[in-house]
Amino acid sequence: MRPRGGHLSTELSTVTVDNRSVASAAAIGVLRVAIDAPLRHPFDYLAPAGLAPAAVPLGVRVRVPIGRREAIGMVVDRAEQPQVSVAALKAVRQVIDATPLLDSALMQLLRWTADYYHHPLGEVIAAALPRALRTGAPCAAQVEWWRATPAGRDAVSATALHRAPRQQALLERLAQTAHGLSSADLALQLPGWRAAARVLLQRGSIERLELDAPAEASADAQPARSHAPESGRHAPALSAAQSAALASIDASAGSYAAWVLQGATGSGKTEVYLQCAERTLARGGSVLVLVPEIGLTPQLVQRFRARLAVDIAVLHSGLSDAARLAAWRAAHSGRARALLGTRSAVFAPLPQLGLIVVDEEHDSSYKQHDGGCRYSARDLAVVRAQQCGVPVVLGSATPALETLHNLDLGRYRGLTLPRRDDQALAPRLALVDLRAHAPHRGLSTPVIDAMRRHLAASGQVLVFINRRGYAPTLLCTACGWIAPCQACDARMTVHRASGQLRCHHCGAQQPLAARCLRCGFEVKPVGQGTERVEETLRELFPDQALVRLDRDSAARPEQLDAILDSVLSGTARILVGTQMVTKGHHFPGVSLVVVLNADQGLFSTDFRAAERLAQTMVQVAGRAGRERDRGEVLIQTQYPEHPLLRSLLSGGYAGFAAAALIEREAARWPPFGRLAVLRASTRSSGGALAFLAAARQLAPAAAAVRLLGPVAAAMARRADRYHAQLLVEGAERRPLHRFIADWLPQVETLARAQRVRYALDVDPIDIE
Ligand code: ADP
Ligand code: ZN
Repeated sequence: MRPRGGHLSTELSTVTVDNRSVASAAAIGVLRVAIDAPLRHPFDYLAPAGLAPAAVPLGVRVRVPIGRREAIGMVVDRAEQPQVSVAALKAVRQVIDATPLLDSALMQLLRWTADYYHHPLGEVIAAALPRALRTGAPCAAQVEWWRATPAGRDAVSATALHRAPRQQALLERLAQTAHGLSSADLALQLPGWRAAARVLLQRGSIERLELDAPAEASADAQPARSHAPESGRHAPALSAAQSAALASIDASAGSYAAWVLQGATGSGKTEVYLQCAERTLARGGSVLVLVPEIGLTPQLVQRFRARLAVDIAVLHSGLSDAARLAAWRAAHSGRARALLGTRSAVFAPLPQLGLIVVDEEHDSSYKQHDGGCRYSARDLAVVRAQQCGVPVVLGSATPALETLHNLDLGRYRGLTLPRRDDQALAPRLALVDLRAHAPHRGLSTPVIDAMRRHLAASGQVLVFINRRGYAPTLLCTACGWIAPCQACDARMTVHRASGQLRCHHCGAQQPLAARCLRCGFEVKPVGQGTERVEETLRELFPDQALVRLDRDSAARPEQLDAILDSVLSGTARILVGTQMVTKGHHFPGVSLVVVLNADQGLFSTDFRAAERLAQTMVQVAGRAGRERDRGEVLIQTQYPEHPLLRSLLSGGYAGFAAAALIEREAARWPPFGRLAVLRASTRSSGGALAFLAAARQLAPAAAAVRLLGPVAAAMARRADRYHAQLLVEGAERRPLHRFIADWLPQVETLARAQRVRYALDVDPIDIE
């Protein structure tokens, strides 16, 4: 299949064609090499001396000269004619891999990604590879190996070595074996062998080899976690709805189908993924499972390990380079036939791919937010499934509006899991009107009363507040000064435990001041963060054990484990946390959930804010419901009449989604239109806006595309740079992409001239 949007690379490559020299050249044959650099076209190289271009497989890495340096690139194509003058052609210096690192299916996905997101192919390929492979590490793990040479074998009986017993012993040992021994073996058998080996090597009695390691010991470096929800390979009998879902998905094996598996937390979605995976593995296929954040869901990794009878590789951003490489190799070699990973794992090599699962498909961490190619791993999972002809399962309690729209259009097929019979009823949601019940330090009386009630009935309580730290503002009580970030248009957050003021946007830190920096009068923290809510609750409920879950309290995996353990074991009675509490954990003892500040997301400039708020609330609410008792959810708000809250309360997530889709359609926002955003930043205050205005001037006329802006970002100054954006909107995908392909190369020239940082974001999920 020809990748869609492929016109971009051809358009651009014509820029570099030197027609006169090409016309006169005979067919000479060149390799097209994609290099990790912001260059829109691959470079042409001659094959290394003595090799025909056809002898170099596509998908292997090569070392090539570029300017005065050397780079590692990927052979992505061959051509009869070079795009530069023959005289300017250089040759590949070394072919690194004997066999392709990326098979044709994966290359197809990477090309599609580069085209769709209008990003250089070389950079997309680099992002898909572990760092070690980008810098030339061998694809297979290597071991150092030693072998006696024929001359060495002859020398074993010679007397020359008798005065060097170590050399004698080493040579004898190696001569006893036909194939030699590894360094690891020798270290075990002959202490001090390496010095002897050096001498024998120089003398030509032995030789040193690098061989592919047979198999690495473990497919990943993740230690087994505690609190396994289940152990052994025992699978529960499925409910009727689960069986039906499994049967539908399984019937689509071997061909493309996109399934949306909808069901509340605890309804049994993961059980369906597991059994689908088992069936795929039994047929000889491999399985790719994408999850939002592995660090937050140790239970899930543990569950897959306990159930699937194959090696499972795990890929996520918290791994060391070595562990990442090991996991990648395990998948590439076919040894690990299941791979669990976060965003970039969508590019993991999996021969015989048979099934893709995207858990919590609505999660915003699937979208690459900053730097590099801003892809959506969820969307690419669907593309990959389509290209490979396999089913993909998108699971969520709160599917993205895009996904629901695709269901409406019949592009995706829906499967629903009702709550399981042994599961509690859906929790009862209620609003607490803060205008009628003034909160004391963030907590209203009805909320405190409900907490007392649930704790007395030995339920656990989860208090959700989407803000970490002690307080969002430090205010001078005399002159009104507010501690600002020096680098951002933002306030510093008070972190009392660490005695700091911190900016949550740029990471700046400074000691927590006791007095106003302007007038010297007393300052006080204003507003609520998790730390302060924790303090208040400890005063109100001194006898109840309390834990806090946010990025500060669970910075390390052991800390997260300890917090989860204390909630799951029931030791902790109150849990205060940020959206970290919404990520996939089951807390079966929680009977009451309190949402302290629903209002933050109600009035945002970002058209997706409402969707995110609804998802968060439903996900938090999903933690309530103790065994068979019906859970309770209290949402504090100043705006109990707000249509978003009303639709959620009366119709649940489905009710909200239906209303939100009608609004989106009226405004022609995605999924009813297509969007891209060009973001720019400069050190000077007007620079980004001026650049985007000039970029807008360059835009080719296109009736099907509308440009909106440029406008300064809602937070214009961030980390000492000024940010602005220009929206590009179109009803249809194709004309929009054609427009971008024409426009972007010109923008690029402009950016170089104006020294601007800029990035194009196709299908953005945050509009600032
Ligand atoms: P979800 O992924 O939708 O949150 P899970 O698959 O994790 O739901 O199921 C929630 C809990 O219920 C898990 O402990 C799981 O083992 C259990 N469970 C799921 N399906 C069944 C079933 N058919 N019979 C018994 N227990 C089940
Ligand atoms: Zn800042």
